[in-house]
Amino acid sequence: MKEASRFEKMAARCWNLLNEGKPFTPIFVAGTMTIYHAADWMGGSWGWMLGLAAALPLFVIYYVYDYPLFLRNYLWIPYVVFLIVWSFADAALLLLASGLYFFFTVFFWGTLYYHLRIGTSWWNFTRFWKLVLKNSDSTSGNAQEQLPKVFLLLSVWEYASIQVERGADLAPLCGALWLFAALVWLFSWILHRNLFDWQPEIIPTYTNNVPSPTVPISDKVYVIVIDGMRKDRFEAANAPFLKRLRAQGTEFAQMETVYPARTVVCFTSMLTGTYPFEHGIRSNMVWKLGAKVETIFDSLRKVGKTGRLLGIAHLVDSFGDDVETVTAVMPNELADRYIIERAKRIVEEQHPDLLVVQLIATDQTGHSRGVLYDEYIEKIEEADALIAEFVAWLEERGELERATLIVCADHGQADGIGGHGHLDEGERYVPFFMYGPAIEAGKRVDEKRSLVSLAPTIAYLLGAPYPSHSRGPVLIEAMRKEESDETAARHRFFAGAQ
Ligand SMILES: [Zn+2]
Repeated sequence: MKEASRFEKMAARCWNLLNEGKPFTPIFVAGTMTIYHAADWMGGSWGWMLGLAAALPLFVIYYVYDYPLFLRNYLWIPYVVFLIVWSFADAALLLLASGLYFFFTVFFWGTLYYHLRIGTSWWNFTRFWKLVLKNSDSTSGNAQEQLPKVFLLLSVWEYASIQVERGADLAPLCGALWLFAALVWLFSWILHRNLFDWQPEIIPTYTNNVPSPTVPISDKVYVIVIDGMRKDRFEAANAPFLKRLRAQGTEFAQMETVYPARTVVCFTSMLTGTYPFEHGIRSNMVWKLGAKVETIFDSLRKVGKTGRLLGIAHLVDSFGDDVETVTAVMPNELADRYIIERAKRIVEEQHPDLLVVQLIATDQTGHSRGVLYDEYIEKIEEADALIAEFVAWLEERGELERATLIVCADHGQADGIGGHGHLDEGERYVPFFMYGPAIEAGKRVDEKRSLVSLAPTIAYLLGAPYPSHSRGPVLIEAMRKEESDETAARHRFFAGAQ
């Protein structure tokens, strides 16, 4: 299967500028103004740019505050206040902005982009517009967040430009509008501080629930991440293999993802054992490459072991050379099949001690067609069959004899364009289960656990030190009693021998 090319890695980064809501807002507003004033600047008149000075503080505030989930409703208040106080609305400008916005999201992204990248139909807009209207994630596809932000920024910018062109002084104009911005900042700060209270709790200490392991329990660990597999939709799917694996292993029934639940953020937390504030990856838009803390791959290197992550190009931003990339530009019905074939080749050629495989078709169908439709369930069922085949292949080759298998998702998906980020319904808890000779069979852990436990649990299984900033407790409940007793005995033996 084709690797992601250098061009694809660059293109993926550029696309993020339009895909992530934060950079999108200023780019879109500036683009809309440039189009609206095309006749002016072509005629050499740049007065319309001056008003930007008055709007600048608001750009910063709307970049910092994303007004997650229901908070977005409050975005209309500053806009209405502006309408009342300044009695200014340029209907043509707002109409142009709305038109461009829906053209970009519904046609360019929802139809053309998905058609070229994963082969969805040319008619996808007939579904996609409904998804954009409901969508609640942190991307530019969140119409209910983007439209009021865009309306206010455009209005302030245009209003100030007109006033300056009519001869008003820029300084007092900026004074008044900056004061307004200061009030919007205060309003945003109070709202976020008091209403935005659903972020997962952060584990305050570094991993310490079991001593750092010195002897491995497993020879190999295989982690299969079904990207964006929503828990209740997995339950609804006919996935006999995965459900049997879960029944014969240990299930963590309340496995919580991290905030913001964006793919690169989640994978980085899963494979470093800590949170965005510490590993530095705060969205899919990675400004500074590389996780700031040790990853599980670094831990493994310390004991002479190897780990590989097979996933999309975005993950290189966090994990660099530890990633084997797969191209995300291919028909979605082929994507997971190719990934599994590539995973087999990595096992054959490199024999890594840890292999993390990211299956992407379920997530992509959720994003392009929505999660509450049958197409999404079908993708989960296809993943089930592919994983069954992969596991049988591993078994045949004797790769599973002392191996542990972990199956999970990085985050769920909400209604809308399969969005994820702000932990809306369906995003927060993910399927997570472990299976293997060292793992308790038929066990279910109902206490809440976090995906940051993945890295230290892999380290524990493979006898490697925990990554430097790992905070998640080792999922020790999953370990067979005899295995952990035997390991403890060996710990004592080695401790005594020193
Ligand atoms: Zn994801």
